[in-house]
Amino acid sequence: MIKKVLIANRGEIAVRVIRSCREMGIKSVAVYSDADRRSLHVRYADEAYHIGPSPSNESYLNGDKIIEVAKQSGADAIHPGYGFLSENAEFAQKCSEAGIVFIGPDPKAINQMGDKITARQTMIEAGVPVVPGTQQKVSDMETVRKIVDEIGLPVIIKASAGGGGKGMRLVRKAEELVSAVKLAQSEAQSAFGDDTVYIEKYVESPHHIEFQILADRHGNTVHLFERECSIQRRHQKVIEETPSPFITPELREQMGQAAIAAAKAVNYVGAGTIEFLVDANHNFYFLEMNTRLQVEHPITERVTGVDLVKEQIRIASGLPISFKQEEVKQHGHAIECRILAEDPFNNFMPSPGLIRHISEPNGLGVRTDGYAYEGYEIPLYYDPMISKLIAWGRDRTEAINRMKRALFEYKITGVKTSIRFLERIMDNRDFRLGNYNTHFIQEHFDELM
Ligand code: ADP
Repeated sequence: MIKKVLIANRGEIAVRVIRSCREMGIKSVAVYSDADRRSLHVRYADEAYHIGPSPSNESYLNGDKIIEVAKQSGADAIHPGYGFLSENAEFAQKCSEAGIVFIGPDPKAINQMGDKITARQTMIEAGVPVVPGTQQKVSDMETVRKIVDEIGLPVIIKASAGGGGKGMRLVRKAEELVSAVKLAQSEAQSAFGDDTVYIEKYVESPHHIEFQILADRHGNTVHLFERECSIQRRHQKVIEETPSPFITPELREQMGQAAIAAAKAVNYVGAGTIEFLVDANHNFYFLEMNTRLQVEHPITERVTGVDLVKEQIRIASGLPISFKQEEVKQHGHAIECRILAEDPFNNFMPSPGLIRHISEPNGLGVRTDGYAYEGYEIPLYYDPMISKLIAWGRDRTEAINRMKRALFEYKITGVKTSIRFLERIMDNRDFRLGNYNTHFIQEHFDELM
């Protein structure tokens, strides 16, 4: 069994992982940059090591330094959280060469899923439906036109190395095609250092629905049902909920089986997420796989009762998953709101700075995963998430009402936050009816965009 875990991350997810370690009797090691000296994860861990200046590429992305600290502190495993090095196959490889367990899948699976073109090819071979489009990378315009003739407009041009909604271009008119491909290529180059792009059919008014899976080294692969993530702004998730108000029990069953098949196709080990697009007619298509813990994992934990970080650590220790598929049930309804340091009423401008006052909501069915406290300064170097607020109810209506109540109680001063915007979504009639797709925010809050 793993005895000491270094958490190669910061913020709420570092705190989240440390919590499970402590409950398991496992020692935790935090690492931090200049900007995070006073961060909560540093105080909650058993040990903490400074790893460099504030910019991520000099601290949280410095894999060699992190491995060195792991050795120095006697950690036998590294948990990468999400973002930073979590989907970096080279880092996973270096960990294993240094004799340290990487809490995540094997480097090969990370590579197979990290390159989206390879992932699409693998899924087609495994019989998992993918969004119609190219199987190869797009280079010359002649091929581009041929593909578009085949699948028809509109299409979306995407970066093969993509993530975070970057490097995507929607094309509705044939004459926009050439410039869109060029723009997508240059965006992909600057965001990911790789200009490989591919083409997908643009699915009109889709739902983004993803499945949580877990797989161990004893041949067990299970899913923990879905998360509905269609409330998005600029292709980035804002609110997630489970169960999805959109899918039927039959579709849930089919998608769960497809998610398991997808994971098995790459001999996946660990926690992972299979993302699907679902169109208005309930056709579903594989979108991508995230080979790590997701931001929105707590809603799955809330309805299934499973601690996903503990399962990750068990699996990395070589133990089997602690339950069987038949034992996983969805109890009630959970919603997550991402609380961001940004101003929703001024173009969602980032609002880093000093937190003068913070009081977090509490009470039955409410969970906050955060790391900020009074006097903490939110650094401008990292993503602007202050915390995640999760509300549970016996049914969807109770979960929404509880979320509203919790948002009302949540008070943060010193920085601007997304709280008022989230309250407006909770009050929206279509949201309350579960009548929404990925265009919801654009359609209802266009004046704020
Ligand atoms: P990233 O990895 O950058 O987050 P994804 O491929 O996961 O990119 O897509 C992010 C979001 O973009 C999806 O949740 C969806 O809202 C939208 N999207 C992506 N591909 C398509 C498509 N083919 N048709 C319609 N919307 C899409």
